[in-house]
Amino acid sequence: MNKREYIDEAEKDLLHTYNRYQIVFEKGEDVHLFDTDGKKYIDFAAGIAVSALGYSNDEYKNALKNQVDKLLHISNLYYNPPIVAAAEAVKRISTMDRVFFTNSGTEAIEGALKAAKKYAYTRDGFAGHEIIAMEDSFHGRSIGSLSVTGNAHYREAFEPLMPGVKFAKFNDLDSVKALVNKKTCAIIMETVQGEGGIYPATEEFIKGVRKICDENDILLILDEIQCGMGRTGNMFAWQGYGVKPDIMTLAKALGCGVPVGAFLMTEKVAKQSLVPGDHGTTYGGNPFVGAAVSKVIEIFEKENIVEHVKEVGAYLEKTLDGFKEKYDFVTDRRGLGLMQGLEVAVSPYEVSAKCLEKGLVVITAGSNVMRFVPPLVITKTDVDEMAEILDNVFQEFAQ
Ligand SMILES: *Cc1c(COP(=O)(O)O)cnc(C)c1O
Repeated sequence: MNKREYIDEAEKDLLHTYNRYQIVFEKGEDVHLFDTDGKKYIDFAAGIAVSALGYSNDEYKNALKNQVDKLLHISNLYYNPPIVAAAEAVKRISTMDRVFFTNSGTEAIEGALKAAKKYAYTRDGFAGHEIIAMEDSFHGRSIGSLSVTGNAHYREAFEPLMPGVKFAKFNDLDSVKALVNKKTCAIIMETVQGEGGIYPATEEFIKGVRKICDENDILLILDEIQCGMGRTGNMFAWQGYGVKPDIMTLAKALGCGVPVGAFLMTEKVAKQSLVPGDHGTTYGGNPFVGAAVSKVIEIFEKENIVEHVKEVGAYLEKTLDGFKEKYDFVTDRRGLGLMQGLEVAVSPYEVSAKCLEKGLVVITAGSNVMRFVPPLVITKTDVDEMAEILDNVFQEFAQ
């Protein structure tokens, strides 16, 4: 089939829940992608912050291949060696105490919400607790995750959602304080808001929220699904602020392409939270994803990916700041490490479509932000290659 035929067939068969770019990707190499016409692209999207190791890590690929030959799936009625290794590794890098593996980010959020509710239920002896979430947040598409996602457009058709959720303004501590009451069991937020437009938490805000939580035995749930796994120049973004969550969610780069998520908690939460019968999953944490997670973390540590992100992230930041200076319609640059956003006064969708034509894969966030979440293994040369294409595209908009 050629490109047109793939697209026509896809639009007949797949439920139309995405307005997709008119490209059919076939393979990846290093930090480049190739479409079915053989055209080469430099990838600054990483499948939405997933493919952190790029596409040519043989050690990672071989670990997956070996596990395919051994055992793909066994169910959580039994133990399996890869998930034991994965759990140990993810605990070690996060200093959290207990982990539950899921199949996606939204399921990690579901588990985190259930864990928080159960913690408060065990403590108080009754249910009906409330959760504070943030405006312009994104936590996923399942009903529970949507309930804490502060985006009316995503929610409207599916109301009523889970009750007992109130929305505060991100980076506005007073707006959080105003919502806290005796029934509040958890505050959930992304350490760096991703879909909402790449907004890092301010240090004052996240520390203030941590304090509110400590004073009221409220659990702080940090969603690190997008900003975690080295992306911000720390293994987890919260490590850069000197706070620690009670519950953390992961997915996206955790498996670098294998569908896996996780929610983790401290022993304090685990001790009075989910017990046998409270939660489960058929696939979650099977041997295949376990092999992926433990290998990903091994490679991250061995190759010191976090240090690399600090260095290349600073270079990307500088490069993007250059665009802000050069073009009037580039109004802001925000982000940490290799999670960067450029706010533009032109259509970011048109910019990204034009970039694709010229061989650069880049995505958007919010309604006015270009989002840069490349594989974490990109080099400064790759940043230069991206910048040359972006500059070409921006020049068209400047005319
Ligand atoms: C992508 C994302 C999710 C949802 O993850 P899925 O795997 O798509 O369900 C949740 N939270 C954040 C911050 C995300 O970026």
